Amino acid sequence: MIDRDAPRAGERVLQDMPGTEAGLVFIGHIETPFASRDDCPRQGRADGPVCTLVLDPRFAPALDGIDRFEQLELLYWLHEARRDLLSQSPRSDGRTRGTFSLRSPVRPNPIGTSIVTLVARDAHRVTVRGLDCLNGTPLLDIKPLRCAYSPLAPAKPGV
Ligand code: SAM
Repeated sequence: MIDRDAPRAGERVLQDMPGTEAGLVFIGHIETPFASRDDCPRQGRADGPVCTLVLDPRFAPALDGIDRFEQLELLYWLHEARRDLLSQSPRSDGRTRGTFSLRSPVRPNPIGTSIVTLVARDAHRVTVRGLDCLNGTPLLDIKPLRCAYSPLAPAKPGV
């Protein structure tokens, strides 16, 4: 059987990975039709399948007001990704690029982001289109794409 996570030709592995320094809260998980990593698109598409954000019911009140937005920005934890590659060869051709020049799921903090279209909200479930992650992927955060409560940039630097 092929080990999907084995380093490819030319890839560089970090040998002394630092310990973790932040505690994250999974606010729920994401239901998608993608049962394996090979089934997932490389990036979500606006016309992609409907997926469901299933929040822990304790976070349901935090969804109040979300219906006003057409688009949301999601952050999720790509839980099956290895975290110790410094360079990667996404096409398995031995030509590597640095991890931070890629949107690969393999990174020290395997956080994925997507801009999705809100379809509907029902109690602690939100349906959206535009995702690219495995069924069951843990959900970290939901933000409106544009929000009236974002701080305004200062008119001049330093003001
Ligand atoms: N849209 C996000 C971004 O740009 O940050 C993620 C892009 S990443 C290229 C998407 C790929 O990650 C998928 O095609 C799949 O191979 C992989 N993937 C999806 N869900 C994953 C998970 N839960 N754990 C590990 N890898 C995952």
